[in-house]
Amino acid sequence: MNILFASSEAHPLIKTGGLADVAGSLPHAIRNLRHDIRVVIPAYQSVLKQTEKFTLVAHLELEGVKQPVRILAGRLPGSAVTLYLVDSPEHFDRPGNPYTMKQGSEWPDNAERFTTFCRAIEALALDSAGLDWQPDIVHCNDWQTALVAPLLERHDSRPATVFTIHNLAYQGLYDWKVFKTLELPADFWGTKAMEFHNQFSFIKGGLVFADWITTVSPTYAREIQTSEYGCGLEGLISHRTDKLTGILNGVDYSVWDPARDPHIPVQYNARSLPHKLQNKQTLQEHFALPVDDTTPVFAVISRLVEQKGIDLVLDIVPELVKQQAQLVILGSGDAALEAAISDAVTAYPKHVAAHIGYDEALSHHIEAGADIFLMPSRFEPCGLNQIYSQRYGTVPIVRHTGGLADTVTDTTDETLEANTATGFSFNKATYTALNATVTRALGYYRQPAIWQQLVCTGMKQDFSWKRSAQRYLELYQTVLEQRAVKATARPLILQSLL
Ligand code: ADP
Repeated sequence: MNILFASSEAHPLIKTGGLADVAGSLPHAIRNLRHDIRVVIPAYQSVLKQTEKFTLVAHLELEGVKQPVRILAGRLPGSAVTLYLVDSPEHFDRPGNPYTMKQGSEWPDNAERFTTFCRAIEALALDSAGLDWQPDIVHCNDWQTALVAPLLERHDSRPATVFTIHNLAYQGLYDWKVFKTLELPADFWGTKAMEFHNQFSFIKGGLVFADWITTVSPTYAREIQTSEYGCGLEGLISHRTDKLTGILNGVDYSVWDPARDPHIPVQYNARSLPHKLQNKQTLQEHFALPVDDTTPVFAVISRLVEQKGIDLVLDIVPELVKQQAQLVILGSGDAALEAAISDAVTAYPKHVAAHIGYDEALSHHIEAGADIFLMPSRFEPCGLNQIYSQRYGTVPIVRHTGGLADTVTDTTDETLEANTATGFSFNKATYTALNATVTRALGYYRQPAIWQQLVCTGMKQDFSWKRSAQRYLELYQTVLEQRAVKATARPLILQSLL
């Protein structure tokens, strides 16, 4: 199969969250299964700075886009996957974050930027960019690429479309005035298309028009059909339930494996766990916390947003202090949460330490050095750090939701007996529930034999891409067959009408 994988970010070139990890690793896994998958992302300034080996392969004049757009071609670093960059300097050649300005608010022209990106993907998908390559499947991800599905829907000889929801809370909503400036077909506005409560919703493009919808865990696929998690789109999603599949994200163990991780001071595996302790010491030193093997170190690595339940973590800080624990936080985002974290560091300098910012290498060191990883998310489409944590022998405490529910097995007498326990989970997003779970986890932490069992069971789990990549391929095949049936069914219906 020929597959075009469209994403607004891809590790290691540009990353703000889990989408980048997926876009940087799933295509590689699919290529290893011998399919021609190519990735397309915008040519952000920081991406162009890192990559010299790109060649100009096309100049495109796109409908509704003032300046011509260039397509550059190269390779996704560390793989043989072809990478296309959509080079539209007025939209992407600017410093900083792909979606937001320095002070955290959205780039004011985001709707125009990602419409341009989608128009370029449309041209690649229809082989009208002159590359002599047409995908059978276009796989779009999140709102930034969701418009590709309705844009392609207007063409008879289009590839099939798959749309993956990595996070339903980000929808790309803009008002009528903005919609008018995008020069999209007029019928894109309308409740059967992308209009949503009087706004233009990019994500609806994928939800309404893609041939198939996927999301990144089976539990999240069920949850988004309910009012609690559906963000107002639960009706539409339930309506498409027969074309909705949850496929758990895999992780790239060539990047996230303590046995060969270049970012951590001492590499280790399940047979050399004392080496993990050395990473704990260097982590405590790095954060100027008292160095002590027996002190339990809790960790958070996260975008600092309400979704992630960081407020709940801050609520339990006094309890962690009482229990003689340490807490290390790496994250950036919401200014109020950043300030609250700094306050906690000031109040408890011997127990709480933080790095406000984004630091890939430090995130690996924290995974290696911590004992317990906290992820009390209010919702979590898949979540990756609870999976990385297991491989690093850092026992996760998670809220039982979305991908967290699908990847962490709570510790009980039964799961310990069966040797399946990998962490701790709780249901209600409350201080009381998190606090009780932390206390429960610390009870086991103080029983070294049981703790070692938890650590080792976690380290043995296999969440590599192989199985999930295979599932995507099966899905692509189903979607292609379904489109072929549709194409042959039409003339038959006509015949019977005649
Ligand atoms: P989301 O996509 O909602 O942010 P995921 O758990 O799916 O959450 O993926 C988050 C990814 O981003 C992980 O690879 C995590 O290590 C990384 N990450 C988040 N915040 C930071 C940070 N401040 N520094 C380094 N890596 C981070």
